[in-house]
Amino acid sequence: MSSAFVTCPLCEATCGLEVGIAANRIETVRGDDDDVFSKGFICPKGASLKALHDDPDRLHTPLVKCDGAFVEVSWDEAFAEIERRLPAIRQQYGDNAIAAYVGNPGAHNLGSLLYGRVLWKALATQNFYTAGTVDQVPKHFSSGYLFGDGLTIPIPDVDRTDFLLLLGANPLVSNGSLMTAPDMRGRLKAIQQRGGKVVVVDPRRTRTAELADQHLSVRPGTDALLLAALANVLFAEDRVQLGELAEHVDGVAQVRALVAPFAPEAVAPVVGVPADEIRGLARELSDAQTAAVYGRIGTTTQAFGTLASWLVDVLNVLTGNLDRPGGAMFPLAVGGQANAAPGRRRGFVHGRWRSRVRGLPEVVGELPVATLADEILTPGEGQVRALITVGGNPCVSTPHAARLSEAFDALEFMVSLDVYLNETTRHADVILPGPLPLARDHFDLVFYQLSVRNVANWSPAVLDTELPQEWETILRLVGVVMGQGPNADVAGLDDFVAAQAAQRAGLDPAVAAGRRGPARLVDLMLRGGPYDLTLADLEAAPHGIDLGPLRPRIPDVLATASGKIELAPEAITADVPRLVASLDDPPQQFVLIGRRQLSSNNSWMHNLSPLVRGGNKCTAHVHPDDAAKLGLADGALARISSRTGSVTVPVEITDTVRPGVVSIPHGWGHDVPGTRGEVARAHAGVNSNILADDLLLDVPSGTAVLNGIPIDVTAVA
Ligand code: SF4
Repeated sequence: MSSAFVTCPLCEATCGLEVGIAANRIETVRGDDDDVFSKGFICPKGASLKALHDDPDRLHTPLVKCDGAFVEVSWDEAFAEIERRLPAIRQQYGDNAIAAYVGNPGAHNLGSLLYGRVLWKALATQNFYTAGTVDQVPKHFSSGYLFGDGLTIPIPDVDRTDFLLLLGANPLVSNGSLMTAPDMRGRLKAIQQRGGKVVVVDPRRTRTAELADQHLSVRPGTDALLLAALANVLFAEDRVQLGELAEHVDGVAQVRALVAPFAPEAVAPVVGVPADEIRGLARELSDAQTAAVYGRIGTTTQAFGTLASWLVDVLNVLTGNLDRPGGAMFPLAVGGQANAAPGRRRGFVHGRWRSRVRGLPEVVGELPVATLADEILTPGEGQVRALITVGGNPCVSTPHAARLSEAFDALEFMVSLDVYLNETTRHADVILPGPLPLARDHFDLVFYQLSVRNVANWSPAVLDTELPQEWETILRLVGVVMGQGPNADVAGLDDFVAAQAAQRAGLDPAVAAGRRGPARLVDLMLRGGPYDLTLADLEAAPHGIDLGPLRPRIPDVLATASGKIELAPEAITADVPRLVASLDDPPQQFVLIGRRQLSSNNSWMHNLSPLVRGGNKCTAHVHPDDAAKLGLADGALARISSRTGSVTVPVEITDTVRPGVVSIPHGWGHDVPGTRGEVARAHAGVNSNILADDLLLDVPSGTAVLNGIPIDVTAVA
């Protein structure tokens, strides 16, 4: 058995793994003790890579639907079918008739990340959707307007901070998100061991809240009110201290006026936290030697996602903690980072186009996935008639999921790039499988831009595969879209892509001669990047290269039109009156929130026995007081209904949720016909997105409200 050292590509933590391989099969997986970043940490998902590669249900050959049933076909037959059907739709109905959806695994797949953008450009469709609008788009929106680029996101400097305020985040279970940091338990404990403090704001007493020094249980969707109240106290008590940021910030006076209505006494009854606790938190935040405020999924997938994301960084600025060690800082990745070159003053815009049916604005090049079904089902010019999906499982992970399934059935043609025949790809006409993680080169192009430490690691493919690489499949699709037919010159297209990448980096493409595909593009990015590295340097360092702690980057990192932090941009602050009005909203009797699970990876990996054993994981958490009121018994069934549908789910009575809050994890619901996944079907769970309302959105960003969905709960006899 030989050992290979790779980066785990399953989540944002980027853990180093030591993989034992024999006869082209994974035998063992363990944390790589010598990895410069993760130092041996591994979670159950990483350990299940062997089960993923051995999964008998994954696809090994393309499938084409004939008379309603999938048949295995050759790659040439699959592309002949695509050639026969896709260009005709575009020709007849125009560019926007073909939509694209990219799921969350796309960010972890170097091939689809680098070459998908070539395909989307070739398609020229405005109907581009991703999992971002059921996830982090509000953070892109706020960061874009504050700092000039949607990926210029401040990351908490967890390894040096004295005070960490986490809202709607459960990194002990999620392993960190928009904060690449393996072993968050160890990092949070280290804050406490050096005398610091960790505070968690969440409607649930999560595992992270259990570890924290303080937990504030707020009503779902009220984070923006709490954050505004903290800012209000900073102004009221003359605690605003911009420090070295002062000359780089515009808009502080406007922020003072904007947060004036949110005194702790005004927000306390709505947030569910006493005013003196809010005031005390603001003082601690202000008094801490260094502090970082961080918000994640609970703050972005809710009615005020953009305002909450904005206010997180307003607090980092007002306390002088932005861009200083121990505060919230900007990573500098080895390559491919848009904000690495100083002097850009493009500014950020959104709404460059709008969705046809509901008029929702584009943000970071995409439309809200909550309106994809409208675009498919509503007749008229520009109606979506075909769809390409890359990874993801929107029929499980996006709002009003049942309607989206109906919409996919109404499509004239659908192509999916996926390793599974799942709840979404069952609607496809053609499924094109790609290699599994260890059979493809890997590099965390996105997550090194969000990392708590500047590191880099290249992981070459360590298993052979009979499948074409995903980037090759995507370029073949590009050939179809560009009218080159089903057998386009993939090598020639790859040379073209590399030549363009070299031109952008100001390099001669010949410097990366001898390489192809993602390896060549990464080599070019590294050569054009800020550390003067090449891919050969990374190849010579199988445990990664540590480039040190985060360093201050203001003003170079700023790309706003003014060259400053624009703290009160109109695109964001225009939504403040809606927040003010919410102070008078009558409280809902019951609201639904999500729940992260350590052994679940959004909507996939439920077909792996090691990750689903140990009882039903898809339960509704209900507070004991509510259970008593509703006549619910532990383990009994409850019917949970919303405007968009209802599900019947086993109840787990627990005081970890607030009264009035019900929590169901998302990504389940594997009992629909036409899928291939024996283990997942045996542990089906319910699809919580049947309850998510496609009409409830964060207004500026169009991101779906997945936390704070009004529901009714009844006992099932
Ligand atoms: S925490 Fe994420 S990167 Fe690390 S082993 Fe688990 S899934 Fe892989």
